[in-house]
Amino acid sequence: MSTPIHIVGGGMAGSEAAWQIAEAGQPVVLHEMRPVTGTFAHQTDGLAELVCSNSFRSDDSEQNAVGLLHWEMRAAGGLIMHTADRHSLPAGGALAVDREAFSEEVTERLNAHPNVTIERGEITGLPPESWGSTIIATGPLTSQALAQEILAATGEDALAFFDAIAPIVYADSVDMEKAWFQSRYDKGETEEDRTAYLNCPIDRQQYEAFLDALLAAEKTEFKDWEQDTPYFEGCLPVEVMAERGRETLRYGPMKPVGLTNPHNPTVKAHAIVQLRRDNALGTLFNIVGFQTKMKYAAQTQVLRMIPGLENAEFARLGGIHRNTFINSPRLLDEQLRMKSRPDLRFAGQITGVEGYVESAAMGLLAGRLAAAEALGNALRPPPPTTAMGALVTHITGGAEAKTFQPMNVNFGLFPAVEGLKGGRRGRKDRYKAYTDRAKQDFTAWLGQHAAA
Ligand SMILES: Cc1cc2nc3c(=O)[nH]c(=O)nc-3n(C[C@H](O)[C@H](O)[C@H](O)COP(=O)(O)OP(=O)(O)OC[C@H]3O[C@@H](n4cnc5c(N)ncnc54)[C@H](O)[C@@H]3O)c2cc1C
Repeated sequence: MSTPIHIVGGGMAGSEAAWQIAEAGQPVVLHEMRPVTGTFAHQTDGLAELVCSNSFRSDDSEQNAVGLLHWEMRAAGGLIMHTADRHSLPAGGALAVDREAFSEEVTERLNAHPNVTIERGEITGLPPESWGSTIIATGPLTSQALAQEILAATGEDALAFFDAIAPIVYADSVDMEKAWFQSRYDKGETEEDRTAYLNCPIDRQQYEAFLDALLAAEKTEFKDWEQDTPYFEGCLPVEVMAERGRETLRYGPMKPVGLTNPHNPTVKAHAIVQLRRDNALGTLFNIVGFQTKMKYAAQTQVLRMIPGLENAEFARLGGIHRNTFINSPRLLDEQLRMKSRPDLRFAGQITGVEGYVESAAMGLLAGRLAAAEALGNALRPPPPTTAMGALVTHITGGAEAKTFQPMNVNFGLFPAVEGLKGGRRGRKDRYKAYTDRAKQDFTAWLGQHAAA
């Protein structure tokens, strides 16, 4: 029998990776620390435990990017999706599951697989090279000892922190009759640099109304176990800054300096909200400095008060929880391997994807890539026209490394299909074109895989 591939972490990603490797005929050792060592959020010793909601979100594979990811994972024989389908609950167009039955069956199927060995116990350091091919899938609540070693090996400033994430807007939903492209003081060597930001001007009255709404909006409360975790490098939620004084934001992320509104050049804005490009395609922009813990409904309402964002569509809303993720665009190659230690792959939320489905998808991919490598048939990841490919392309290079933040799958990550109408009106046809193309390309990728 060949050397086993090791996986650290038996959550959404690790369980799926183990299944893919075992199904490819390779031996695998899955290391899960529970129940020997627990986390703040997990309640059981089951594999693939859902720590919070029981929803896998939309199951619409024609009009929704996460639904498309479901489709691809089913096509690839994913354990997580097949088990979710067997334990689904009525939830409208969403896929919700009976969490206990789901986790129990994942655990049983892996336990019963002849190629899988499950070892319970915390891995307290970076796995040694003598282990050979290893996948680290320890998730947002990676144990402290391992997190420290990952931090030392990656040389990044922070790994675990309060993750206050800023909302991301689809560029084509911004009203360009009000907003404009310009970097502060026209800084930059190239035209692209000088026009890197989208700016939304606010007058005094709008600013005061916006501030009132921001301060009054409903916020997510911290859980007890989150109290000791610091914010990331002064990355304060926008409402926390606003609480410090009514002018704080005008001297912070909303400062109206170094910019001239071409729609109204003689009037100086009282405040300006800037949006920064979030992907290489230029289809997504994050609202600079607007990390927030406002509840989702309140967030949409408050942010749409910003001139230019009245009809904004959000690829991701802001949020806050403890998280652990590496700077994948800088640290990983397209195979999800650490560039400085190619024997180590990363998968799941620790790679900077966000959500159960995305985490399991990166587990599926890491498992397949590791198994193919072990069999001497190295494979490329699926193309960026597929949901899985768009996500892995984003985290391993498409995203800006300097401002890298966790990402959900969304159509903004997909390369455009030429010749289709932009804006809201063309959205249905556009999404259908994306998902048709993705299904075709993903099927072709699976075909290559089978032939290898
Ligand atoms: C509080 C909280 C709430 C969340 N709510 C949602 C939600 O509602 N919906 C959603 O889609 N996503 C949610 N997420 C994100 C969600 O956790 C992830 O999307 C998903 O579970 C990540 O999958 P994963 O496999 O990367 O990590 P996990 O599923 O967390 O699995 C990691 C596993 O690694 C184990 N482990 C950790 N360290 C070690 C070690 N050193 N040695 C051995 N084993 C180790 C853990 O015990 C765990 O079983 C939430 C996250 C948190 C922290």
